[in-house]
Amino acid sequence: MNYDIAVVGAGPAGYNCAINFAKQGKKVVVIEKNSLGGTCLNCGCIPTKFLWQAAKTKQKISKSLEYGIKANIESINFADVIAKKNRLVENLVKGVERLLKTNNVEIIKGEAGFKNKNMLIVKMSDGETEIYAEKIVIAAGSDCKVVPNIDFDHKKYISSTDALNMTELPKNMLVIGGGAIGIELSSIFSAFGVNVTLREICPQLLPSEDTELAMELAKVLARQGIKVEVSCTEPLKDEDKFEKVLIAAGRKSVTNILKTENINLSLDKKNFVETKNYSTNVENVFAIGDASGKGFLAYTAEQDADNLASGRQSSNPVPKVVFSFPPAASVKAADFDNYKNIVYNKTNYSSNARAQIEGDRTGWIKVAADKDSGKILGVWILGANADELINTASVMISAGMKISDIKREMFFHPCLSEMIYESLMQCAN
Ligand SMILES: Cc1cc2nc3c(=O)[nH]c(=O)nc-3n(C[C@H](O)[C@H](O)[C@H](O)COP(=O)(O)OP(=O)(O)OC[C@H]3O[C@@H](n4cnc5c(N)ncnc54)[C@H](O)[C@@H]3O)c2cc1C
Repeated sequence: MNYDIAVVGAGPAGYNCAINFAKQGKKVVVIEKNSLGGTCLNCGCIPTKFLWQAAKTKQKISKSLEYGIKANIESINFADVIAKKNRLVENLVKGVERLLKTNNVEIIKGEAGFKNKNMLIVKMSDGETEIYAEKIVIAAGSDCKVVPNIDFDHKKYISSTDALNMTELPKNMLVIGGGAIGIELSSIFSAFGVNVTLREICPQLLPSEDTELAMELAKVLARQGIKVEVSCTEPLKDEDKFEKVLIAAGRKSVTNILKTENINLSLDKKNFVETKNYSTNVENVFAIGDASGKGFLAYTAEQDADNLASGRQSSNPVPKVVFSFPPAASVKAADFDNYKNIVYNKTNYSSNARAQIEGDRTGWIKVAADKDSGKILGVWILGANADELINTASVMISAGMKISDIKREMFFHPCLSEMIYESLMQCAN
């Protein structure tokens, strides 16, 4: 079968890439070995946020008396929670299928490997087929990584994917890895009553994040009942004490199944595809999303897909969010480190009327601006709705806005985003 474009993998990078090229009138096929939607839909963004929302609903009911409403949680059957999550995932997967089909993208279910630079061999449940394409896009994603001397047995030693499919809650759980995934799953399971210990090898959670935000987040997790241990060089010292050991130690490459040796494709030290502006060392082969070892986020994968199809480049700020209780979020200008004269200001949630109405007064919003020009350079949030608020901040930074630009704007009252406005105005003083 002959195509203009063959895309390997139907996660956010792959399906968006396929649709973008199809909209340009290209004949496109997408090859997927598992479920459409990739990690994001099946075992990443969507399932984690559904379970976070379920845990939040439980917390809200527990606090209902603050609004004069007497409500009790009769029982929680965790298998039902997982079933509801699965139903949502199934619907969204069907949505991706519809989207691909209405855009005339052909879908082949199977595992692709290179035969040569224009030819893929796809192993399907009922045999093999060969695909010829002018251009091949690797959007094969990544998989859960283990730690040295330990492998997943998918019973006691579990991955994030296993954790998202547990139908019974363990009494206790050791989570190894204090990155976004480890923190989110710790927060969710702790909120459902699991006794969680979270261990991170680096001196702070979220090692590449602002230290003040990471330290405050550690306190918030501890207050929730999670035992947080950082600088933990021996995370598996007492694993017998735990019913489950969840390893959230990052993501690994899946290029081994792509038979990249058949086209001499250059890989980096961690076996991710080496790319420059999505191009590889093989002229007609491209790589986007997690497969290129960059970003490791659904929306950066989607942006890769848009950029590749449009031939555009973008270096927009990347907002980051961790779904703890409350969530943490940050965004920084790409050239933040070039500024030497930065002014910061912080506003506490406790001072904001809407935070009091919402019944969640924990946390703060911190902003940074260039003292000379007033250019907005960064926003860090730990508090209710940080996940939504950060997008406003991201747009401000991306648009190169200055404090004087925001001064002209009106923010609805009472709103949490008033805190961004207030902090920026304080920076100007
Ligand atoms: C627990 C968890 C929570 C997350 N939460 C968030 C979040 O809240 N927000 C966010 O932005 N990101 C989140 N992420 C990250 C996000 O899911 C990924 O960055 C994103 O899915 C990457 O998209 P992708 O298309 O590059 O790869 P993937 O989504 O991994 O898709 C790759 C697809 O390629 C297929 N494939 C691989 N090899 C082959 C082959 N040889 N032949 C055929 N098919 C193949 C795979 O089966 C897979 O479906 C989370 C990840 C995890 C694990």
